[in-house]
Amino acid sequence: MPLVPCRACGHSVDTSAQACPGCGATNPGRKLSKQQSDFVVLLIQLIVGVGLLFVAGNWAWNQIGPIVKAQLSKPAQ
Ligand SMILES: [Zn+2]
Repeated sequence: MPLVPCRACGHSVDTSAQACPGCGATNPGRKLSKQQSDFVVLLIQLIVGVGLLFVAGNWAWNQIGPIVKAQLSKPAQ
C-alpha cells in the first residue's frame, strides 16, 4: 500500500485511507478535496461551454452576417 503525505498535515497516510490518523482530514491521500475537484470540474465545464458558445456564435455570425449585411445594404422600398 503506497503512503502519501496528508494534504492537510503532511502525516504519512495510506492512499486508500478514509481519514488521516494525524489530523482526521477525510481522503488524506487525495491531492484535491471533493469540493476542490468539483470546482475544477465546474471550471472546466464552464471554459468548454464558453468556448463552444464562442465557436458556435462565430460560426452563426459567419453564416448569417453576410445575409444581414446584404439586407441592410438593400435600398429601402
Ligand atoms: Zn492529516
